[in-house]
Parts: sequence; C-alpha cells; structure tokens
Amino acid sequence: MLKDEDRIFTNLYGMHDRTLAGAKARGHWDGTKDLIGLGRDKIVQIMKDSGLRGRGGAGFPTGLKWSFMPKESDGRPAYLVVNADESEPGTCKDREIMRHDPHTLIEGCLIASFAMGAHACYIYIRGEYIREKEALQNAIDEAYDAGLIGRNACGSGWDFDLYLHHGAGAYICGEETALIESLEGKKGMPRMKPPFPAGAGLYGCPTTVNNVESIAVVPTILRRGAEWFAQFGRPNNAGTKLFAISGHVNRPCVVEEAMSIPFQELIDKHCGGIRGGWDNLKAIIPGGSSVPLLPREIAREAIMDFDWLREQKSGLGTAAVIVMDESTDIIKAIWRLSAFYKHESCGQCTPCREGTGWMMRVMDRLVKGEAEVEEIDMLLDVTKQVEGHTICALGDAAAWPIQGLIRHFRDEIEDRIKAKRTGRVTAAVAAE
Ligand code: NAD
Ligand code: SF4
Repeated sequence: MLKDEDRIFTNLYGMHDRTLAGAKARGHWDGTKDLIGLGRDKIVQIMKDSGLRGRGGAGFPTGLKWSFMPKESDGRPAYLVVNADESEPGTCKDREIMRHDPHTLIEGCLIASFAMGAHACYIYIRGEYIREKEALQNAIDEAYDAGLIGRNACGSGWDFDLYLHHGAGAYICGEETALIESLEGKKGMPRMKPPFPAGAGLYGCPTTVNNVESIAVVPTILRRGAEWFAQFGRPNNAGTKLFAISGHVNRPCVVEEAMSIPFQELIDKHCGGIRGGWDNLKAIIPGGSSVPLLPREIAREAIMDFDWLREQKSGLGTAAVIVMDESTDIIKAIWRLSAFYKHESCGQCTPCREGTGWMMRVMDRLVKGEAEVEEIDMLLDVTKQVEGHTICALGDAAAWPIQGLIRHFRDEIEDRIKAKRTGRVTAAVAAE
C-alpha cells in the first residue's frame, strides 16, 4: 500500500485548507521559480524519465506528447489545454482534485505551459461541475493576486495567463478535438486526426491537451524526481494513480495508490471488501465505461495497470473501477451503457450514428430475452463494423462493452433467450 508520505494529493477528502495558504502549508508553490529555472528541455526530459502516462484514459506518454510541441515559434502562439471535462461514467477523480486541491493543478498548469512554450492555458471544465468551477476560479484568483501566475509568474520572467472555460454538459466535448472546437465557440464535434493538436490545435496553433491528473502531478514529480515517481508500479506503468471505485463495495471511494496494485488489495484496503464477500463478486469494469468488463475469475487476479488489463482485452482507462455483485443484471448494465453512447454520439460519422442506435436496440431485446440466439453473433459483428471505423474513440467505446459482455457472459444471454422461449421466467426477466 502506498505510504502517506508518498501521496501527491494530500487533500483529496477536503480535510485541510484548500486555499493558497493551506496549499503552501502542504508544500505546493514551493520553489516554483527554481523548477521553471530548470528550463524547457530538462523539464520535458524529467517527465519522460518519470514514465508518466496520460491519466485521461488513453495512457499516452506525457513527456513524449510534450516533446511534439515546436521548440521554436513560427509566429503562432502555443497553448496548453487542460481537459477537465470529466464525463466518463464511473469517473470522478479529477473532481476531487479541483474541489479540494486546486493549487496542485494551477501550479502544474504554469510549469507545463512553460515547458511547452505556452503563455496561455485553458482549463475546460465539465458543465455539471459547478462547485468545482467555483473552487478552481477562487484558486486562480488567489494565484493571480499573489503574483504566482500572470505577468512574470512567480518572478520567473515568464508571463502566463490561465482561463477557466465552463462546458455545457456534452460528453463528446471530452474528446480532445471536440473540446478544442467547443473552446473556439463551435459545436463540439471531433476532428480527424492527424493532424494532432501539437501540429494544429486551438485556433490552428500548436496545442497540447492533457488531463487534470496528468498536469496536477507535474510539480511533485519535478520536486521529488523522476526516479521517485518511476519506482511505483511495474515497468511501463509507472507512478501513483487515482482510482475511483464505485458500485457494490462496502465503501466506495477515490483513493491514490501505487500503479499496478492488485485489485483485491485495492478493494480490501480501501473499500472494506465486496458487498456480501468476494464470492458475491460478479464482474468489474476496471477503467470507466469505455473498457470491457472482466468476470470474477479474472478480476480477482487483476493487476491494476495499463498493460495487464490490456492483455485481458480490457484496459485501465480512467481507473474508474465499477464493481458489480451477483445481484447485477449484467445484460441490463451494459444495455445502459449502450443507451448512454447512443445519446452522446455527435452523429457526424455513419458507423457511430447508426451503429450506436442499432446496438442499443438489440441490447434492449437481449435484456428482455426477446431476441434470437443467432442475433448474438450478428450483434458482435456489428460491434466489429463500428470499432475502428469512426472519427473518434466514441465508436470503439460503444462497441467494446458489448464485446466484453458477449465474451464473458454469452451463456447468460442465451439462457435468458431460452428461458423466455420456454416460458421459464428468470429473475432478471421477472424484474422487467
Ligand atoms: P488517443 O489514443 O487517440 O490519444 C491519446 C492522446 O495521445 C491524445 O492527446 C492524442 O493527441 C495523443 N496521440 C496519440 N497518438 C499520437 C501521435 N501519433 N502523435 C501525436 N499525438 C498522439 O485517445 P483519445 O481519443 O484521446 O482518448 C480515448 C480515451 O479517453 C479512452 O480510452 C477513454 O478511456 C478516455 N475517456 C476519458 C474520459 C474522461 O472523462 N476522463 C471520457 C471519455 C473517454
Ligand atoms: Fe461523432 Fe461518434 Fe463519429 Fe465520434 S465516432 S465523431 S462521436 S459520430
């Protein structure tokens, strides 16, 4: 288990003062000018050496992403955009940072922007996060008043402005290029990639989009060193990580732990175990709604990191762990996700626009047991037609949970169809 002194987020539960005075007392904004004094190249190298992989879900190496930003200006300004549009079902980790530890994020914005040659940074915050927006804006105002950001930030000689932009509640605006479109005042619709934002991002200028947690850990990594961060977790899966655990555990929580912690340890130590005991576990979604579920046998062995979960055809995603016990109607749980993705599809590409509705309607009949058994394979085939054939990852995200359901719970789907045919009423169908 991660020791208290190794935690980056020291006010995750709001037990301490979140104002600037409190943040300084907990070590933030300490020697920030000296950190900037390391220079751009050194900061980027430390981030590379730390092994930090993006905490928004995709796990792209953060230092490498920063290195894509142009070293010399071609006349266009550079931007950092922080993705605080946290909307992945089950995910509520960035919310705790912005509520209770906003100065970790603001200090990270300054240093990361400097490292990428950006004098301006935009934080795009989810529309529903109203209190978090207030907390963050208060902290930004405090930082301006104290000269920590603004002209000659922290006395470093670097001018830096930070803007908070409030979204309007569309899930798709969490996709980085849709977010950029939205920031520009347009309808939030994903762009084709490439070009990636480092080449042409906000207003057509070099831009890096990073998740809140990815940026908030930067000052601590620089203070404690790349080796310190890299010591946690397995190779290629470094660092400490926020896990948001919800569902059928005794104590749902958001907790910072070492990457690669075994799933059982995570749940027993921080959540008081599974509701009704470990034998009552049915399945988990280990990384937010976009990754496929895992059944109990695999979940009990799970190592919570990018590579182990990927080998199981799932993923760490946002590390939002959704736990489901034996009382769960697993087909209905995945149907609910299908309905979500259908609702949130922006509709600009056909496989996603048509496919999400198609998949949801078949799932709807599977929940009731009113489909033919052959339709299971047909549904699987449709998920393959959607996967990898869309402009953004929403199409994949809609396909993968269904693929996971069929991979691990085909028997349960078939059983329900057969039960409906023969008039045998399963508990789930009776509940309909
Ligand atoms: P992605 O793999 O396309 O990209 C990840 C990041 O790496 C992006 O910033 C992208 O620009 C960059 N990148 C990738 N390849 C690159 C290259 N060749 N050159 C330069 N830059 C490159 O994934 P994505 O669509 O950004 O994110 C998908 C993930 O988002 C899903 O896995 C899901 O877990 C997660 N997600 C999170 C939330 C949330 O609320 N945090 C919401 C929805 C989805
Ligand atoms: Fe829009 Fe879906 Fe296409 Fe993404 S995959 S661009 S959400 S239609």
